[in-house]
Amino acid sequence: MKIAVIGSGIGGLAIAARLSKKGHNVTVYEKNSVAGGKISQIKERGYRFDTGPSLFTLPHLTEEIAEINYFKLENSCRYFYEDGTVLNFYQNAERLKRELEEKSITDYDNICKRLKDSEEIYNLTSNLFIFNSFHKIKNFLKPENRKIPLRLNKIGFHRSMHSANRALFKDKRVIQIFDRYATYNGSSPYRAPATLNMISHLEHNIGAFFPEKGIFSIIESIYNQCLSTGVKFEFNTLVKEIVNDKIRGAYAIKANNEKVAFDIIVSDSDVNYLSQNMFGKEKRYPLAGRLKRAEPSSSALIFYWGVKAEFKLFDIHNILFSSQYKREFSALFETKELYYDPTIYIFISKRAVESDAPEGCENWFVMVNAPANSGQNWPLAVKQAKRDIIQKINKIINAQQSLHNRSSETIDIEKLIEIEHIASPVTIEKNTLSSHGALYGSSSNSLLSAFLRHPNSLKSIPNLFFVGGSVHPGGGIPLCLASAKIVEKEIDEIYSY
Ligand SMILES: Cc1cc2nc3c(=O)[nH]c(=O)nc-3n(C[C@H](O)[C@H](O)[C@H](O)COP(=O)(O)OP(=O)(O)OC[C@H]3O[C@@H](n4cnc5c(N)ncnc54)[C@H](O)[C@@H]3O)c2cc1C
Repeated sequence: MKIAVIGSGIGGLAIAARLSKKGHNVTVYEKNSVAGGKISQIKERGYRFDTGPSLFTLPHLTEEIAEINYFKLENSCRYFYEDGTVLNFYQNAERLKRELEEKSITDYDNICKRLKDSEEIYNLTSNLFIFNSFHKIKNFLKPENRKIPLRLNKIGFHRSMHSANRALFKDKRVIQIFDRYATYNGSSPYRAPATLNMISHLEHNIGAFFPEKGIFSIIESIYNQCLSTGVKFEFNTLVKEIVNDKIRGAYAIKANNEKVAFDIIVSDSDVNYLSQNMFGKEKRYPLAGRLKRAEPSSSALIFYWGVKAEFKLFDIHNILFSSQYKREFSALFETKELYYDPTIYIFISKRAVESDAPEGCENWFVMVNAPANSGQNWPLAVKQAKRDIIQKINKIINAQQSLHNRSSETIDIEKLIEIEHIASPVTIEKNTLSSHGALYGSSSNSLLSAFLRHPNSLKSIPNLFFVGGSVHPGGGIPLCLASAKIVEKEIDEIYSY
């Protein structure tokens, strides 16, 4: 069958690889000059930065389509708190227990309980919520899924992540660690249902991993897999329209002033963008209203800094927590602005890939959560945020240096930055056509979010399928890969004679 894939984000590449391996004739259309979408890289003067994702979980989903070498991290994240605590969340249970004891945190047993519960919720729900179409009644009726309605209390639909965490953990620092999992799909722990606490299972029971050659190598290997099975790529090509009618469903695309016919079209484009731009002027996309009303997930402001010094204080993944977490989320989702004391994430891939920065230097990816783009004054917001971020990093570095009597010299990180690139909600939106620059499509800030997420196909438009972070099951590398798996299955079921 002749198949068009619109967009070469990880969801688009994954479905192209899967379908072409089955012998279909696949062409990928991509408006940019390279594949990857939000997964991209910058190389400059000996530095290499992964510009988007940095956390790699459920690696088997990548391995199903392409070869990738990766390893398990010893420490999933190093957390820094305003009170001076530095806490390593080791993946080895004994080591974690000792680390918590050293920091006078008495929640080890509660953490074990949470991870056991998360595993149970994952095992109970992932088949329906992640690996199958959520919008087909027959999937709800499968014997293994019939137990779900009886376990709603355990699954945690009825309360927020934060209230479940506050009820379980004694230590505020641990509550903050587990609340942060809401940001893995761009949501607020004070509003997202406690079901999302299952994310901790992915990171701590299954594990946090890292590809040996960095995150962008995931894209390179899936892209090469696509080439090896004959997928054609049309780069620098924006698809302007999905041509469809009631009888044929979606049957052609318009790009480069041409109309090209296909048997099947798979879109990896943000569905909100698609509904507003790719359906011809006279037609209304069936779910346009719902998509427009949905609250976007958070976005991000990222500084990519080439730093001409080394700071062993930081590991590969580091979180410098805000002292006012609730206010930070209220700024992101209610007043839609950057918070003045943000939680800062510093990712240094050089810890895993030595060649990612010159000798004696480090490649810092410094990110704060940002509201989705709704026309804020970004140049001003970026300037203020940079000042706040540098101030906070300096404070933590200098406090730790003096605590360990390392040096009497005051460090100003700003003076050590030799190269800088910036990504904001506006640039993310422009580069990937993500509506409002949202990182994960719509937010999961309500009980109904999972049910309202756009399905992987629509009865009213046959031959059109959807993958990627804006549709079921959601954003993030593993879920985008899962969407491709679901669509492959749907296409097999519909078109195998
Ligand atoms: C800063 C940042 C940090 C993140 N951190 C993590 C993380 O740590 N872990 C994790 O798992 N996930 C993370 N994510 C989320 C993850 O990157 C995304 O969920 C995922 O990469 C989205 O893939 P996608 O298939 O939806 O396509 P996208 O990456 O959104 O790409 C879509 C592609 O389609 C193209 N396109 C769209 N419309 C058209 C059209 N009409 N014609 C031609 N081309 C078109 C676009 O140009 C783009 O290349 C992060 C994202 C960002 C931006």
